[in-house]
Amino acid sequence: MILGTDPRGFVLVRPPGLAETGRMQVQLLNKSLGGLVAVGLLGTALAADRPNFVLILADDLGYADVGFQGCRDIPTPHIDSLAATGVRFTSGYAAHPFCSPTRASLMTGRYQHRFGYENNIAFDPQNPLMGLPLSEKTIPERLKAAGYTTGMVGKWHLGAAHPFHPNRRGFDFFHGFLGGGHDYFSVNLRQAMGEGYQVPIDHNGKPRDIDGYLTEDLTRAAVGFIRSRSGGPFFLYAAYNAPHTPMQAPKERLDRFAAIQNPRRRTYAAMVSILDDGVGEILSALEAGGVRDNTIVCFLSDNGGPTQSNGSNNDPLRGAKGSVFEGGIRVPFVVSWPARLPQGAVYSHPVISHDLSVTALAVAGIPESETRTLDGVNLVPHLLDPGLKPPHEALFWRMNGGSAWAARAGDWKLLQTGANAAPNLYNLADDLSEARDRTEGPALEADPAARLRMRFDQWNQGNRPPFFPGYREYHEVKNKFYRELIGGAD
Ligand code: CA
Repeated sequence: MILGTDPRGFVLVRPPGLAETGRMQVQLLNKSLGGLVAVGLLGTALAADRPNFVLILADDLGYADVGFQGCRDIPTPHIDSLAATGVRFTSGYAAHPFCSPTRASLMTGRYQHRFGYENNIAFDPQNPLMGLPLSEKTIPERLKAAGYTTGMVGKWHLGAAHPFHPNRRGFDFFHGFLGGGHDYFSVNLRQAMGEGYQVPIDHNGKPRDIDGYLTEDLTRAAVGFIRSRSGGPFFLYAAYNAPHTPMQAPKERLDRFAAIQNPRRRTYAAMVSILDDGVGEILSALEAGGVRDNTIVCFLSDNGGPTQSNGSNNDPLRGAKGSVFEGGIRVPFVVSWPARLPQGAVYSHPVISHDLSVTALAVAGIPESETRTLDGVNLVPHLLDPGLKPPHEALFWRMNGGSAWAARAGDWKLLQTGANAAPNLYNLADDLSEARDRTEGPALEADPAARLRMRFDQWNQGNRPPFFPGYREYHEVKNKFYRELIGGAD
């Protein structure tokens, strides 16, 4: 029964079986979504209609290192199955060329520069200012308020002090670690040192040893979270640290890749292969629970592959992790929602990691009025109707306080790699490898450069300077302070 129309053009209908009276028992159907339920303020009676959302993040995975991106030496059948049952993005971007800031964007739905978060955070459990600002409302907080059960496994990297703990930032369940990486085996676990690679695993605030190999331990926790659901939608953020360094894998899996001559690449292949198994087990748990069709499963990497340190491969892109060339930011990126979205489809307009965050909020029925100030875009309407205008007029990246930056609009990309570098202009349509700088090209090509510079400057006006230094600089300053405090020679 149609009840009326709301100011945004939604048609208000009463879902079958619901009483005519009662607060918020109204379902909003968006006409432009072809009947897709864009559920509005919800009572529990409607909770079963809303999709679950599983966000799987790989760490430092190369652009060319999964099957659906053309990888030949590392089988990834489970990750590839997401492309077969969903939409693969050929211009899917991370919001940053390295770890922590991309996670800040994913957890807020915003460009992390809006709140001064463009450096890799240091692991410092004693510093109550070193983390995702408490002024930022997180995606799990918003989803939890909308009735979702929220769980996270893996790498947090958004603050190690108590106020920043995932259980305090919106996650009902957490099993993982707070720093920027972790050893994969259970040997030698000890208290906080360095960047926290050897601290015990944190299970809802309680220390635990790793059970076997870390990637498999995280998968078991993710599967346990899915199995423990008993009705009601859930949000799972599975932030694997594989295949980030240290390069460690079980011998039996290394043996499977004996044909790979380069030992670093061989270990990397083993790590990616176990990550792929983890994706398979998560999908199996969803199937077994009867919720796979109405669960949105996303998979992407937090930045491009650091080819030198972990043996990843970003072909044919130029650059690597830490760079604003495509190799630092363009990543494997796929979204699968069998109940609603096309399957085996390809989407080529540029999208960015925090689009997934805002998509999660939209399908959860959180009103647009609450998310209007976020930078991400709900991708669902664009995937249902490829004729819609692209989600973004332009995308932007900025690092090192603005000395390196990039802007992309359409096929054109302008970037600057350092404070003393001149900007370079590329046309990605015929130069995906960013090999031919067009700034010295014909006069008509000067226009895109000027327009991109203007767009970047406009975007940059809404940003803040970094409020903490990179982790190396932070530790240098901190150590110098303590040396002076105890009177030691510097
Ligand atoms: Ca990373």
